[in-house]
This record gives sequence, structure tokens and C-alpha cells, in this order.
Amino acid sequence: MNAWIPVSGLQIAVDGPSGSGKGTIANLLANAIGLPVLDTGLLYRFVGYSAMRGNVTINEEIAILKLLNNCIQDMQWQSGGIFVGGENIADRLRKEDVAAAASCVAAMPEVRKKLLHVQQDIAKNGCVMDGRDIGTVVLPDAQAKFFLTASLRERARRRWAQLQGLGGEVSLEATLNEIRERDRQDAERTHSPLKQAQDAVSIDSTTMRIDEVVERMLAIMARRQLIRAS
Ligand code: C5P
Repeated sequence: MNAWIPVSGLQIAVDGPSGSGKGTIANLLANAIGLPVLDTGLLYRFVGYSAMRGNVTINEEIAILKLLNNCIQDMQWQSGGIFVGGENIADRLRKEDVAAAASCVAAMPEVRKKLLHVQQDIAKNGCVMDGRDIGTVVLPDAQAKFFLTASLRERARRRWAQLQGLGGEVSLEATLNEIRERDRQDAERTHSPLKQAQDAVSIDSTTMRIDEVVERMLAIMARRQLIRAS
């Protein structure tokens, strides 16, 4: 049984840069409250990955859009991952070369427009959704919005540990450089840049444990009567 019961249709937006812990935290929140959890980064990663596999040049918007129209029909995006032919391919999508491709296609306005509807549709009945622009663009009316941050070094350390777990052999320094570059790309793009929503609660997790962050978020939502103890 879940520890908390949400108000009907509760939407929780969790935004932040790479390695801020938003994916792990969104999963823990969703488990505690009994809501589906949707990782929007996977959606952009899926487009980047499909382009890499189909040898489509990653910065040609027209070709990417054409590919997107086809590949989106072949996948199912749901709580826990992206499924193609019944197989969850989330782990494959979490590789660093796919992240760079995702960041590139994510800067294309038409790609974002297309994926916006996919995201809004799936969030209709309530969910925890994590990404870069959930509180600002995708779910501007979400009842709870959080913006997670942490120092660049700490975010790189977390990401590096995660990649080690996936069998990667990349160095900490290389991971830090990749994250710095993605931060720059995500924050500087014209369309839906990474930015805190005005009504989001910001939490810096550099020196906090994951469970402390989750506890704080749950306490905030309980105080606002968005969730109640079961
Ligand atoms: O969160 P994750 O690292 O999986 O996201 C991969 C990339 O997808 C990000 O660097 C960003 O460019 C893009 N993205 C986005 N908007 C979102 C989620 C991810 O632009 N809501």
C-alpha cells in the first residue's frame, strides 16, 4: 500500500539539470504516492537514438521530424520506460552518446511541439513527470512544481556512478565535461530552455541525501493538502 493518497488528478512537475537526482526522486515520489512516473528525457532520448540507428543526420530538423512521425508510432511510453515491440529499451537510451543526440533534437521547436501533445496527453489523469520544461511549458497548471539543483561536480559524480552501473568506462572528468556542455545547450536554447518556473520550489541537493529531498517534497505537498497520509 502507498504511504500517501493524492488528490484526484494530481500532477507533480520535477525539473532540473542532468544529475540533479530528478529521475530517482520522481520514482520514489511516485512510489510513495501511487502515481505513474514519466521520464520525459527518455522521449527525447528515444528520438535521438532512433536517428542514430537510422543514420539520420542529427541536426537536420526536417529529416528528424519525418523520422519522429514514424518512430513515435512504434513505441509505448509509460511508467517505467519506453517499450518497443514489448521490450523496455530505457537502459539503452540512458547511454551518454544518446544523451548528446537527445539534447540536439530537443533544441528543435517542431520536435518539441510534437512531443508536447504526447506529454500532456499522458499526464491527464495525474502523474509525476520529470524533465526540463515540465513546470514551465508542459504542465504549467501542475499543482506541485519542484526545481532540483546540485553543484556541477556533484551532478557529474552521480551521473558517472550511474554510468558505471550500466557498464560504462567513461572517466569522471569526461562525464563532467559532457554535463557542462549539455547544461549549456539546454539553458541557452531558444525554445523551452531549462528554467525554473516562478511557482516552483527549488531544492539544492548537493549535500542532501535522496531520502531527505523526498521527505521535504512530501512534507510540502502534505502541508498544501495535495496528499494525505493513508
Ligand atoms: O533528463 P535527461 O538527461 O534524460 O534528458 C536528455 C536530454 O533531453 C536533455 O539534455 C535535454 O536536452 C532533453 N530534454 C528536454 N526537455 C525535457 C526532458 C529532456 O529538452 N523535458
